[in-house]
Amino acid sequence: MGVLGVKHPENPRDWYGLGRWKKKQRAQLRAHPLCAFCIEKGLIVRGAIVDHIERVDGDWNRFWTGALQSLCKTCHESSKKYQERRGFRSDIGPDGYPLDPLHPVYQQRTVHDVSDCSNEVITPVEEEVKQE
Ligand SMILES: [Zn+2]
Repeated sequence: MGVLGVKHPENPRDWYGLGRWKKKQRAQLRAHPLCAFCIEKGLIVRGAIVDHIERVDGDWNRFWTGALQSLCKTCHESSKKYQERRGFRSDIGPDGYPLDPLHPVYQQRTVHDVSDCSNEVITPVEEEVKQE
């Protein structure tokens, strides 16, 4: 039982065939006719697919209450799948930088191989010692 409290098909794949979902899809595309990813890239492309921003993972409640976005087929098939596999999107924005704040380029490097450049590394501790 969920917030909607109705019996529903076991297989989440079947949820996409429900009349109620088709209605929701139409409403989404009417309210947001353009591909959300393409807009970020500075492109105007008609959205064709209604995508759950967060994975539904077979959760009936999330299926109905989760936030949606309109995507074009290309973005849904490439960017979104990549994002679900890797945890971030690879799209590059008009400024030449990745659009996704989760892209590794924006992450602090956590692994640093010091064996390559150990002579040049000056740690704050060493600096302190030199100054005194
Ligand atoms: Zn797109």
